[in-house]
Amino acid sequence: MKLHIHDTLKREKIEFVPKNPARVTLYVCGPTVYSYAHIGNARPVVVFDVLFRLLRQIYGEASVVYARNITDVDDKINKAAMDEGVPIDVITNRFAEIYNADMATLGALSPTLAPRVTHNMDAIVKQIGDIVANGHAYAAEGHVLFDVESFKAYGVLSNRSLDDMIAGARVEVAPYKRNPQDFVLWKPSKPGEPAWESPWGAGRPGWHIECSAMIEANLGLPIDIHGGGHDLIFPHHENEIAQGVCAQHAHGHDAEYARYWMHNGFLDFGKEKMSKSLGNVKLVHDLIKDVPGEVLRLALLSAHYRGPLDWTPELVSQCRARLDGLYGALRKVQDVDVRDVVVPDAILEALCDDLNTPRALAELSALAKAVETAESDTARSMAKSQLLKAGNLLGLLQGDADAWFKAGADDDLTAFVEKLLAERVTARAEKNWPEADRIRKAIDDLGIVVMDGPGGATWRVKVPVGDED
Ligand SMILES: [Zn+2]
Repeated sequence: MKLHIHDTLKREKIEFVPKNPARVTLYVCGPTVYSYAHIGNARPVVVFDVLFRLLRQIYGEASVVYARNITDVDDKINKAAMDEGVPIDVITNRFAEIYNADMATLGALSPTLAPRVTHNMDAIVKQIGDIVANGHAYAAEGHVLFDVESFKAYGVLSNRSLDDMIAGARVEVAPYKRNPQDFVLWKPSKPGEPAWESPWGAGRPGWHIECSAMIEANLGLPIDIHGGGHDLIFPHHENEIAQGVCAQHAHGHDAEYARYWMHNGFLDFGKEKMSKSLGNVKLVHDLIKDVPGEVLRLALLSAHYRGPLDWTPELVSQCRARLDGLYGALRKVQDVDVRDVVVPDAILEALCDDLNTPRALAELSALAKAVETAESDTARSMAKSQLLKAGNLLGLLQGDADAWFKAGADDDLTAFVEKLLAERVTARAEKNWPEADRIRKAIDDLGIVVMDGPGGATWRVKVPVGDED
């Protein structure tokens, strides 16, 4: 099956052909680790995790190298460290660990590589030196600046001309710049800030250079796919191309940086914009206290990655209910054997069509239905196996079905609820409706939701989904 993806650079959906199928490379811009990630930051993580899983499925696990960087040099990090009176690595190690744990809760696999800026200073200084040597950057007053006018293809990704950019730009005008569009590759650190040695004086890299340098050093140029949020197209990714191309010996000729570019859309919070000043920032770290990470993952995959995603309490509730349905199907076949099966074609086809996760999720529901309607043990076993295999490719449904419903209940509560449910079955069999209702109310008062179905009643602990506001 052929994978087609929408390439931001070519502005169309095209077939993905890796340069070397034995080593497929993927890079996604990662977090700046000075605080918690909000749910919008988690969308690229989950989207590109599905891409990572799909590439591994197509090319083999050992043939895919996925790098997601950790930005551990930044003004906000310096400020946080200053505020606490600690070295920056106390802040960055703390929040990198929290980030990794939170993203794991969303079912994201660890990337193959997680390069950090502070571990790649030599590579960054080397790449800046190469760009200078190739005549595309200049040093001035302790800074090194990329000479935008020297690179004719500048603007190719964001589809802007230099004139447009000059007209509409919010660029920093500085006396040491030849052109207001020129951007910083290296700058001097302020007194008291961390600094690293370089041929241009002690200082630190600009933000854009870290990605292109870490890509060159850790993955090699060109890479196959570069991903990130839509907001990174300009200037970040535009600048990465300029650096990545101009650092190469063949700059200006056939040098390639990233062969395909993929960008995800934003989360939309209705009329309200999410902002710190409005106090409605939804941090992943907080959301996962109330909502299973798998629900958030499903919600993040419920819309096509390129479009906006309306993030509402209703969406979260619907996704919880959807997972109840899927795990409900699995719970009915808990004793059925799992076989070694291939990923169902319908799921692969959906994902190979530019990661069409809404279609893949609809196919997942169809597979769950097949589990419920299978008429023989063999058919049930096949259907269950296919559902689990498909779920695995999406990073869903790998938990225990019983545990899914009982998450949050200890053994005593579980035993008590099961006893009440058994009593209700008896009351119903005796047509003692008032007693059956009384028991149901008693269960409800325990914070338990009972779901009656054709195979009997199932239950779960109520989760305050949707009213986290
Ligand atoms: Zn980046």
